[in-house]
Amino acid sequence: MSNIQSDLFSKSKTLVPGGVHSPVRSFKGLHTTPRFFKRAEGAYIYDVEDKKYVDFCMSFGPLILGHRHPKVEKALHEGLERGWSYGACEPYSLELAEFLLSKLPHVEQLRFVNSGTEAVMTALRLARGVTGRNKIIKFNGCYHGHVDSMLIKAGSGLAGEAEASSAGVPEGVAHDTLILELGDTEGLKQCFIDHKDQIAAIIIEPLPANNGLMVQPKEFLQFLRDITTANKALLIFDEVISGFRVAFGGMAEVTGIKPDIVTLGKIIGGGLPVGAIGASKFIMEHLAPIGKVYQAGTLSANPLAMVGGLSTLKEMTPESYKKIEEQTKKITTLLANWMKTYNNGQFNMFQITTYSSLFWIVPKENVTKIADIPANLTENFNKLFEVLLDRGIYLAPNAYEVGFVSLAHDDTVVADIAKRLDIKL
Ligand code: PMP
Repeated sequence: MSNIQSDLFSKSKTLVPGGVHSPVRSFKGLHTTPRFFKRAEGAYIYDVEDKKYVDFCMSFGPLILGHRHPKVEKALHEGLERGWSYGACEPYSLELAEFLLSKLPHVEQLRFVNSGTEAVMTALRLARGVTGRNKIIKFNGCYHGHVDSMLIKAGSGLAGEAEASSAGVPEGVAHDTLILELGDTEGLKQCFIDHKDQIAAIIIEPLPANNGLMVQPKEFLQFLRDITTANKALLIFDEVISGFRVAFGGMAEVTGIKPDIVTLGKIIGGGLPVGAIGASKFIMEHLAPIGKVYQAGTLSANPLAMVGGLSTLKEMTPESYKKIEEQTKKITTLLANWMKTYNNGQFNMFQITTYSSLFWIVPKENVTKIADIPANLTENFNKLFEVLLDRGIYLAPNAYEVGFVSLAHDDTVVADIAKRLDIKL
C-alpha cells in the first residue's frame, strides 16, 4: 500500500475520531490502513489510486443492483432537478410506501426515517407506547443499530438480566432490556414468568446477519410469535438487512411468520439514507400527530432517498432473487475451493455459509448462536482479508460482517474473480 492511502488515513485521524465515521470501517486489528475509495461502478469499487476491487461490502447491503445502476442514476438526476429536500408533504414517499406495502401483507402503514437505527428507536418507543410496558427482550448477537437500549450485553444475574455494552448508556436504560441467547426457549419462558406483564416486545433480526450469519430455525421464530401473542407482547422483526434482500417481504415472507412491527432500511433507499417502521394501522396510529408516541424528522422521507429506493426496487423481480442467489452460489463455490488449496491450505479451515445473496466466511457450518463461533475466527479472517484485498477483492473489514452480492456480480465478474484467484474456469 502506498503513502497516498496512509497519508489520507493520518489526515483523517486528525479530523475524525479514529479516522472513521463508523467504527467498522476502521480496519482495526489489520496490518494495513483503510482503503480510501473515490468511485464505484457495477460490482466494482476504485480506490484513490485507481486500483479496482470486486466489492462484496456494497455499502453494507443497500446496493442490491450494484453501484450506479443506470435507472437509479437517472431517477436520482431527475430528483435532483426537482430540489432535494422540502420538509413538507410530497408525492414521492407515497409512491415508495405504496410499493413497499404492496409487498408486505403484514404491514398496513409505514413511516420513513433516515436510518435503521432511527427505525429501531421508533419501533421500540412505539411498542412501549402501545403496550404501556417498558421491558424489551433482545438476543445476544443481533444488532439493531446504536440505540442506547440495544447496546447491551448479558449480565451475570437472572435469566435475561443485562448491562450496557457501551460507555454512556445509563444503567436505568440497560435495566429495561433483557438479553437472551438465540434459540433459548426455556430462558424466554422464564423471562415471561419473571417479568410478567412487563415485557413490551421481543426484537430479533429474523435472519441475524450482523454477527456473522446465524440462520435461525423457523420453529424458533414461530416460538417467538407464539410466546409474544400469549403474553400480549409485540414481536418486532428487524429486517433492515433481510427486508427486500432475501425476498420482497423479507423473512416474514420466507417463513410466513408475521411480526407486529417491522423495521426496514438499506435497500428501500437504494443507497441513500433511509429507514422505515411498518405495522398495522392500529399500531401505527399511536404515532404523532394522531397518537401520543412522539417521532419526527427534518429530513425524513427525503425525496432523493424515496426515488433512490423506488427505482431500485422496481428493477427487482422474483427472477432477480433467483439470479442473485445463483450468482452467490457460483462466487462462494469459487472462493471456497480457492481457500481449500491456497498456500498449502493456509485458509482450509474456512467454509462459506450462504443465505440468498448473503455469505459469511467462517470455519464452522450451522452457526446459530454466539457460542458456536470459533474463538480464532478474527485471527484467521484478518489474514484472509489482506490476501484478498491484495488481489482486488474487497470484503467488509471484519470477521463478523457478512458479504453482499448484487445483481451486478454477473458472469463476467465471476470470471474476473476466478482470474484474481488464479483459477482456470
Ligand atoms: N438493524 C439491523 C438489522 C442492521 O443490520 C443495521 C445496520 N447494519 C441497523 C439496524 C442499523 O442501521 P443503520 O446503520 O442504518 O443505522
